[in-house]
Amino acid sequence: MHEMSLCEGVLQVVEEQARTLGFNRVKTVWLEIGDLAGVDAEAMRFGFDVVVKGSLADGAALEIIRLPGRAWCLACGHEVTVAQRFDACPDCGGYQLQVTGGDELRIKELEVE
Ligand SMILES: [Zn+2]
Repeated sequence: MHEMSLCEGVLQVVEEQARTLGFNRVKTVWLEIGDLAGVDAEAMRFGFDVVVKGSLADGAALEIIRLPGRAWCLACGHEVTVAQRFDACPDCGGYQLQVTGGDELRIKELEVE
């Protein structure tokens, strides 16, 4: 389950932010996860609760914001929305797609005190 190490990465970023911005409690973490990131949101929630135990984010809520997968279709010449990597273009059925978005995993916002 690689979500566990992803959660550790998230906590690291939160701790860095805490040092930079000078807060010591985190109440909510808003995390953006793209549909193409290959990340299981439920596993992320579970991993987060485990990883933040005893840290400044112990007991913090994890709010997950899903971002749709986006790709540029070379055949159509415009951007389309895809549910999964290697999906066919929903407009022309072609496979000449370049992923342009939806593969992100990043902290959007923190509620701190
Ligand atoms: Zn197309």
